Amino acid sequence: MSNDKNKAATANAPSSNFLRAIIDHDLAAGTHDRPGMPPVITRFPPEPNGYLHIGHAKSICLNFGLARDYAGRCHLRFDDTNPEKEDQEYVDTIMDSVKWLGFSWEQGGEEYLHYASDYFDKLYEIAEYLIQHGFAYVDSQSAEDMAKNRGNFGTPGTNSPFRNRPVEESLKLFRDMKAGKYKDGEHILRAKMSEDAMSSPNMTNRDPALYRIRHAHHHRTGDDWCIYPMYDYTHPLSDAMESITHSICTLEFQDHRPFYDWLIATATAGGFFQPPVPRQYEMSRLNLTYVVMSKRKLRQLVDEKIVSGWDDPRMPTIVGLRRRGYTPESIQLFCERIGVSKADGWIDMSTLEGSLRDDLDPKAPRAIAVLRPLKLIVDNFPEGESHACTSPVHPHHPDMGVRTFPFTRELWIEQEDFMETPTKGYFRFTPPVGDQPGSRVRLKYGYVVECTGFEKDADGKVTAVHVKYFEDSKSGTPGADNYKVKGNITWVSAASALAAEVRLYDRLFLDAHPDAGGKDFKALLNPNALETVTAYLEPGMANAQPEQRFQFERHGYFVADQVDSKPGKPVFNRVTTLKDSWGK
Ligand code: ATP
Ligand code: MG
Repeated sequence: MSNDKNKAATANAPSSNFLRAIIDHDLAAGTHDRPGMPPVITRFPPEPNGYLHIGHAKSICLNFGLARDYAGRCHLRFDDTNPEKEDQEYVDTIMDSVKWLGFSWEQGGEEYLHYASDYFDKLYEIAEYLIQHGFAYVDSQSAEDMAKNRGNFGTPGTNSPFRNRPVEESLKLFRDMKAGKYKDGEHILRAKMSEDAMSSPNMTNRDPALYRIRHAHHHRTGDDWCIYPMYDYTHPLSDAMESITHSICTLEFQDHRPFYDWLIATATAGGFFQPPVPRQYEMSRLNLTYVVMSKRKLRQLVDEKIVSGWDDPRMPTIVGLRRRGYTPESIQLFCERIGVSKADGWIDMSTLEGSLRDDLDPKAPRAIAVLRPLKLIVDNFPEGESHACTSPVHPHHPDMGVRTFPFTRELWIEQEDFMETPTKGYFRFTPPVGDQPGSRVRLKYGYVVECTGFEKDADGKVTAVHVKYFEDSKSGTPGADNYKVKGNITWVSAASALAAEVRLYDRLFLDAHPDAGGKDFKALLNPNALETVTAYLEPGMANAQPEQRFQFERHGYFVADQVDSKPGKPVFNRVTTLKDSWGK
């Protein structure tokens, strides 16, 4: 996506999409009209088994965004039906991430925070109803037989020998499963959508599992249960219990929709729900280049200490992006730009980086940082003296004020701002050659100086550059404009600069699609994804507060690290460079 296109897309946000078209139609038709209820109720249903990532952010921005724009509400529902993998730690971080992104599940003094585990009693009741009415049965086949008898794409399945066992027998077995009389895997409750469901071309209709035995401790219900409902069973019924109107999921659930509809319709016929009932809609998931997003792979990076944790600034997790310096607004902007559709595709990482730049450019205070320092000595400037220089905090916002920093005899400049033998078009520091004087440049917001020489060490490395300054050239003073120079160089005073640890983050992978097509993603890590330097910053940066973001002139956007910064001693993370230089 080009930048111009990005800008156009956000000019009249929120942009329309197929889901908004469906909702508009439903509003006009009164599809979900119910007394005392908003006509749009969405939900974000994470499983508390890991940290949220940028893909989840798409779903969060979409679901909460639709609720906001249509004066409805969005529920946060923990889909906690896999006790072995889930934990309170994940519940807490997920709530934090949703709030940080700028959304709330509270409305009109009500909290719409739900847990599928709160519905375990009701779900069990509905399961008994299904058994009693011939819509479900207990299957006692071995796991291998069950898999074998499922058939596959193009081959119909075979009915389980237990499919037609008497209702009373299934009911007793199911109750005994609940009572803990059986071991994990001994029996399973399956749906019977129709007599010939096992030959349905849609594999998910072939007697899907509803409940399995798991003698496991649940982070909320403890040891109350040893049978747990399956996701495909829990999800539609939870939607119905919460009066969800539009249940949005990713495309891989398209095949599950017939079961979703059948289950809700069957339970509604049984008097468990009143119409109108929820409807499921599918959208493409977010695939972002240069990252992996599967929870399993992210966990691998953490467990194998390839990154420092879930919040490593190179991780595509919400906590990682936050620590990296991304703003909630930039992530919302990104989600707005990528939109929603039914077409699978890849979004380039530069779209996310561009959203950050567009968000921060108008609001980030500017500061000067010298990342790879080289000493500059102003030989004709008196030792011990200091002249105050000022510059705007933001070039386009005079209301943000000015900052002041001293000009002294010794300064730091970037190593790349000096060239002993300049290439064509190089307008920074170059030494005198023969009777040719050295180059003249302006030290930004300070004086014009002329290069008079330089020093080298035994290895030929340049260790200092010498200049003379012109007293009447100070920026902002009368006559300063009489000096015409082509270079404008950033610098900080060596006497007062703040030495700070700066972490130059880059993309975690070198390959745009590190885990596509069965590639070994760990072989494609970017070895230069983190470089740590000691930089010299203008002295005011000592007051930077954790999570405060800046544009370091010419270097990009940086944030004071929320974990490692100490009062008066911030550590900075680079969020992104000023321009997209990848692949160029
Ligand atoms: P798992 O890898 O455990 O299956 P998941 O990514 O499906 O995880 P969930 O916690 O089940 O994670 O996801 C919560 C919600 O976020 C779901 O509604 C899911 O559709 C949505 N979601 C997850 N990944 C993406 C993605 N890449 N793009 C858009 N939505 C996503
Ligand atoms: Mg999932």
